Amino acid sequence: MIVAPSGAGKSTLVNAVLSRDTSIKLSVSCTTRQPRPGEMDGREYHFLHVEDFLARKARGDFLEWAEIYGNYYGTSAKMIVDHMQSGADVLLEIDWQGAQQVKKIFPEAVGIFILPPSIAALEERLTKRALDEPAVIQRRVQAASEEITHACECEYVIINQSFANALAELMAIITAARCRFAQQSVQNAVLFEELGICPKAN
Ligand code: 5GP
Repeated sequence: MIVAPSGAGKSTLVNAVLSRDTSIKLSVSCTTRQPRPGEMDGREYHFLHVEDFLARKARGDFLEWAEIYGNYYGTSAKMIVDHMQSGADVLLEIDWQGAQQVKKIFPEAVGIFILPPSIAALEERLTKRALDEPAVIQRRVQAASEEITHACECEYVIINQSFANALAELMAIITAARCRFAQQSVQNAVLFEELGICPKAN
C-alpha cells in the first residue's frame, strides 16, 4: 500500500514501478471525484456517480473506502482477490484511512508512506501540476499536514526528495517484502516442502 498526501509524487513513483515490474498489478480504485484532464475512466480510476458508489458500498463491494476532500474513494474487493489469486503482487494507492482498513483484513499488507521533502515542496507540486482549483489546492495542503501524522502507521517511509533515490528505495522495499518468509513459503511451496521447511507458526 502506497500511502501519501496528494502532491507527494506518489503517482509518478507508482507508474515507474509498474513499468519496471510488469508482475505488479495496480489496484484501480473507484472514485466519485471528477476526472482531471488526461485521466481516463478505468485507467487512473473508475469514475462513478455518488449514487452508484453508495449502492456498491451498501452491497459490500469495497475492501475499504474513505471520504476524502468531499469525494468517495474505494477499492473493489473482487479486483484485489482476482489479482491475488492470479499470483500477482498488488499495489494499492490509498489514503491512511484505507490503509488502516486493509491492514485489519490483510495484516501482511505492507504500508509505505511517501513524504514530501517539505510542506512548501508539496504546495509547489500541487500548484505546478495545475490540475485543481486554487481553493482545492489550499484544502489539500492543509489536509496534508494532518495526513502526514499517520506516517507512523506504515512500516516504511520514503522521503521523495530525489526521484531516483525514492524509486530505488521503493523497489528495494518491494523486493524485501517478496523475500519475507510468509511470502516465500507460499510462492515456493513445492521447494519448501522438498526442503522440509516447516511453515512458520504465527
Ligand atoms: P486524488 O484525488 O489526488 O487522485 O487522490 C486523493 C487521495 O485519495 C489520495 O491520498 C489517494 O491515495 C487516495 N485514494 C485513491 N484511491 C483510494 C482508494 O481506493 N481508497 C482510499 N482509501 N483512498 C484512495
